[in-house]
Amino acid sequence: FGYGSVHITSLRPDQIERVLLSAAEIQGRVAELGQQISADYAGESILLVGVLKGITFFLADLSRAITRPLAIDYLQLAHTGEGVHITKDLDLDVRGQHVLLVEDIVNTGVSVDFVLRTLREREPASLRVCTLLDKAERRLVPVPVDYVGFTIPNEFVVGYGLDYRELYRNLPFLCVLKREVYEEALPGE
Ligand code: 5GP
Ligand code: MG
Ligand code: MG
Repeated sequence: FGYGSVHITSLRPDQIERVLLSAAEIQGRVAELGQQISADYAGESILLVGVLKGITFFLADLSRAITRPLAIDYLQLAHTGEGVHITKDLDLDVRGQHVLLVEDIVNTGVSVDFVLRTLREREPASLRVCTLLDKAERRLVPVPVDYVGFTIPNEFVVGYGLDYRELYRNLPFLCVLKREVYEEALPGE
């Protein structure tokens, strides 16, 4: 794919269909989001909440593009037949904080809806959502998303934190998996 030998070693051409967003496109949009968030939260400090594990790359870049005082905390979810539950909760108290939930991708909306309901019970001063990617076509649960990096088609994407069976998170760009690979991947995600 011509993105340098380091990353070519972690790509499997038999699984990757095409590059969807280049590293430069992602970084440009992250800078814009950071400026917008910094302006909207003028005079405030922010608690950025990320959902592990895919978020660590986007959150590292977004947090450095925000020019407000901020804290960062993480939680982790598991999806089971009975629904969604927290496997690793936040360390920090969100009560009275301006909480910005940062997601890598909103798909059906089930995850964000669950996290928003959980956080709302803890009475933050405000609660907004920022997602790098919005697969709007796939939405089943309506969720309020305040900041969207890119709206993308209904295809399975990897890179910039997003995985396929734990691989590809370290790609600095976003790729679409081949249809035959992601049609196998989607039911479990
Ligand atoms: P939702 O609960 O909105 O359906 O799904 C959100 C989660 O599903 C994401 O946090 C992510 O883990 C996974 N997911 C949804 N679409 C994709 C995708 O295209 N690629 C990857 N790697 N994960 C996805
Ligand atoms: Mg996520
Ligand atoms: Mg995953």
